[in-house]
Amino acid sequence: MSRRSLSLDDGLYQYLVDHSLREHPAQQALREATATHAHSSMQISPEQGQFMALLVKLTGARRAIEIGVFTGYSALTVALALPNDGRLLACDISDEYTRTAKPYWQQAGVAHKIDLQLAPALSTLDAQLAAGAAGQYDFAFIDADKTSYDAYYECCLRLLRPGGLIAIDNTLWSGSVALPAKDADTAALQQLNAKLHHDERVDLSLLPVGDGLTLARKR
Ligand code: SAM
Ligand code: CA
Repeated sequence: MSRRSLSLDDGLYQYLVDHSLREHPAQQALREATATHAHSSMQISPEQGQFMALLVKLTGARRAIEIGVFTGYSALTVALALPNDGRLLACDISDEYTRTAKPYWQQAGVAHKIDLQLAPALSTLDAQLAAGAAGQYDFAFIDADKTSYDAYYECCLRLLRPGGLIAIDNTLWSGSVALPAKDADTAALQQLNAKLHHDERVDLSLLPVGDGLTLARKR
C-alpha cells in the first residue's frame, strides 16, 4: 500500500466514473459537444467538476466567480450547485468559445444564475472591487491564462469573504512544475505554488486531482 495518491489506469478510472459520476443531462451533452473541439482538453473532467460542486455546497456559496469559461462546463457545474438565487460571475474573453455554452446553461435551467462578462478577467474583477464588492463572494475558480494567475488570486482573495474558497486549476501543469521552467506559464505556476505554500492569509491544500487543483480558504 502506497501512502501516495493512486495513479489511475483506464480500468480504474472507468470504475471511478461508473461508481460516482452524477451528471445533469445538459452536462453530459455539453461534454459531448466539446469532445471534438480542437481545445477540448481545456475542459475540466466531470469528476473534478462534481468535486467542485460539492465544495460549492459545503461552503454554502451563493456568489461565485469563474475565470476561464471556455465552452461552459465548469460554469454549468458550479451554477447547478448554487442555490436558485445564487450568482456566478463568469469571465472570459472569447465569444467564440463561450457561445457554445448558453444553450446548455438554458437546458439545465441555470442561465439566470450566470453573468457572463466578455472582457479581460482582470478588468472585470477590478470593476467588481471598484463597485465595492470586496468580501462579497464565497467561491472562485481560476482556470484562465497562467501568467495572470497570481493577479487573479490576489483579486479573488479581496473579493471573497473570510471562509471563502479559491480553487486554482492546473497547478501541477502535467508535472512540469517539478522541473526547471522552460516557459512563462510554468514559471508563473511555480512562483504561485511557492508563494501559496507560505501564504498565511489562507488555509491550503494542493490536490493531485486532474492537472493539480489547489484549494485556498481565506482566513
Ligand atoms: N474552465 C473551463 C472548462 O472547464 O471548460 C476551461 C477554461 S480554458 C482552460 C481557459 C479560458 O480562459 C479560455 O476560454 C480563454 O478564452 C480564457 N482566457 C484566456 N485569457 C483570458 C483573460 N485574460 N481573461 C479572461 N479569460 C481568458
Ligand atoms: Ca484547466
